[in-house]
Amino acid sequence: MPAVNLGLPARAAVRGEPTQVGRPEVAGLIDRFGRVARDLRVSVTEKCSLRCTYCMPAEGLPNIPREQLLSAAEIARLVGIGVRDLGITEVRFTGGEPLMRADLAEIIGLSADAAPGVDLSITTNGIGLDHRIHSLVAAGLTRVNVSLDTIDRRHFAELTRRDRLPAVLAGIRAAHDAGVSPLKINAVLMRDTLAGAADLLAWAIENDCRLRFIEQMPLDADHNWARDNMVSAQALLDVLGTRFTLTEAGRDDPSAPAEEWLVNGGPATVGIIASVTRSFCAACDRTRITAEGTVRSCLFGDDETDLRGLLRGGADDAEIARWWRGAMWGKQAGHGIDSSGFVPPARSMGAIGG
Ligand code: SAM
Ligand code: SF4
Repeated sequence: MPAVNLGLPARAAVRGEPTQVGRPEVAGLIDRFGRVARDLRVSVTEKCSLRCTYCMPAEGLPNIPREQLLSAAEIARLVGIGVRDLGITEVRFTGGEPLMRADLAEIIGLSADAAPGVDLSITTNGIGLDHRIHSLVAAGLTRVNVSLDTIDRRHFAELTRRDRLPAVLAGIRAAHDAGVSPLKINAVLMRDTLAGAADLLAWAIENDCRLRFIEQMPLDADHNWARDNMVSAQALLDVLGTRFTLTEAGRDDPSAPAEEWLVNGGPATVGIIASVTRSFCAACDRTRITAEGTVRSCLFGDDETDLRGLLRGGADDAEIARWWRGAMWGKQAGHGIDSSGFVPPARSMGAIGG
């Protein structure tokens, strides 16, 4: 019976096939609350070149032995099953830092072969992207999101525990020059960088990047997140409003997490993902695979279903698809951050794959 990782990377428990009691016979990844997952996030590693305080511990996450990580071929097989059999339409590789995998181009290339025509993107901190972007695009990469919280070098070094802002900016420039468009920038809202939010937005507009701010979620490895200390979307709007005129423009599509705002009448926009104060769990269309090959239906649910054991145990695609459907059927309704008994998940964002 395949193992299931319930907590920290190296700990594994055992559980059988998830129940599908009450589930109608349909091919797609439906859950009990009427949602359908079409957006797949695949974590390819838990290693990272930064140590963002809202994500990683200072010492980094425990090393996972290589044989416990999915190989490029295993990842591509799951991508193929997701797209062909389960209705996935969009795949994003993340981590940890996906550029820490030397075989990232191979992962993308094999996935493009397994799922021709599907959007294959990465979320990255951008470090080293300048050297890799051409091979990644040649392999089939279609879009890039870079995480950048501030353009103030001192604040960047404090927040990420590494003085690497120039390397991130070089990565963004290279992606831009390689024609990757639209280039999206993700910024987590934190107290120390809030005052620089307007500078970051001005920089993003000047550099033809689409900026989205994200409320910090209780997914830091150090468990320091506190609701009272969190910067809300409203606090951000107040700060940006002192420099820009913002007009509400709605969401790109109903399942898009970001609410878009026109900046000074447009065409430039800024997105705000209010994951905590205006939860969009009811419209969530995500399914996640961790670096060790477990399906995780919700960021906040530690319940994971192991597909690696099936992959390595000779299961056929139909059996893997059936377990994946079962995992999604058990997806919880929402993150529950506002409920009195809320307990943050055992895994941090970097260990799940954001
Ligand atoms: N290393 C890559 C990066 O930073 O883009 C990919 C992995 S990272 C976990 C994916 C995204 O999650 C990043 O945009 C990061 O800012 C975001 N993130 C990490 N911890 C978070 C938290 N506690 N709350 C909200 N977003 C978080
Ligand atoms: Fe690394 Fe991304 Fe987590 Fe920052 S947010 S520590 S770059 S995985």
